[in-house]
Amino acid sequence: NVAYFDTALKDELIERNRLLDRLPQALADDEFKMYLQPKVDMETRGVIGAEALVRWEHPELGFVSPAQFIPLFEREGCIYDVDRAIWEKACAFIGSRRRRGLPVFPLSVNVARADLYEPDLVESLCDMAKRHGVRPGELHLEVLERAWAKDSQTACEAFGRLRECGFPIEMDDFGTGESSLALLADLPVDVLKLDRAFVNRVLEGPRSLGIIRCIIELARTLGMSVVAEGVETEEQQDALVSLGCRFAQGFLYYKPQAAETFRDLAVPLEPPFAK
Ligand code: C2E
Ligand code: MG
Ligand code: MG
Repeated sequence: NVAYFDTALKDELIERNRLLDRLPQALADDEFKMYLQPKVDMETRGVIGAEALVRWEHPELGFVSPAQFIPLFEREGCIYDVDRAIWEKACAFIGSRRRRGLPVFPLSVNVARADLYEPDLVESLCDMAKRHGVRPGELHLEVLERAWAKDSQTACEAFGRLRECGFPIEMDDFGTGESSLALLADLPVDVLKLDRAFVNRVLEGPRSLGIIRCIIELARTLGMSVVAEGVETEEQQDALVSLGCRFAQGFLYYKPQAAETFRDLAVPLEPPFAK
């Protein structure tokens, strides 16, 4: 075998080790911040929930994008620690709103595929929810469609148990993975998050529209709600609404912002994800 070396490989390796070496200190120093991006009802523009997204404020590198460190930590088997830090913050955010008498809106946290293999996953989430007074239905779990397809049995078992504990399950980036339609029938999923790739094509013509309409109808038949991801324009929104999609998340409404921005956010009293 012949392998070619170039300096870009070396730089990548140095960068990689720099992020990995910093992880324990970053967790201890609370460098991982929770940002929130609200999900809205497109008809009323009211907030029905929000997604928690991690941001790393690195003391030397500055802001590090999740695209840089999440795949790395997943590969190296240390994403669980980061995820748990964000879940804890999400539960604390809900608890704090309740204590201050503000209406609570559900938060969705991301769950990496590797987290499903952690033996204390269910116990750990239940314990956090209990400590912060989070009630059933208030903490949603988002998992990538790809994660289900790779090992659907483990995913179904883990999410089935979590769902029984009161955590609704959302399938993230739906339409980009390889899961079959047959699999969809058996999955313990409450919400489908339609990937941004579809939303980007919603104005392209009848074929794209047809596919999106079918996904929305399929979800409805299976008793799931649909949230369109990455809505950026009024035109995309109007097309989605005309296809029967009611909920969305995207820069048209809110960009992800530090959780404190939404500390006192007033929300309408509509139930989240009413079908
Ligand atoms: P995701 O879970 O699908 O999150 C949505 C991503 O789309 C976010 O990127 C968000 O900033 C971006 N987005 C939202 N609306 C728009 C829009 O209108 N236009 C465009 N162009 N982008 C939009 P972000 O925060 O960079 O996160 C990327 C991915 O990293 C997430 O995709 C998720 O898979 C992962 N991630 C983020 N936070 C966590 C976490 O705490 N744990 C784990 N395991 N993964 C996370
Ligand atoms: Mg997500
Ligand atoms: Mg997504």
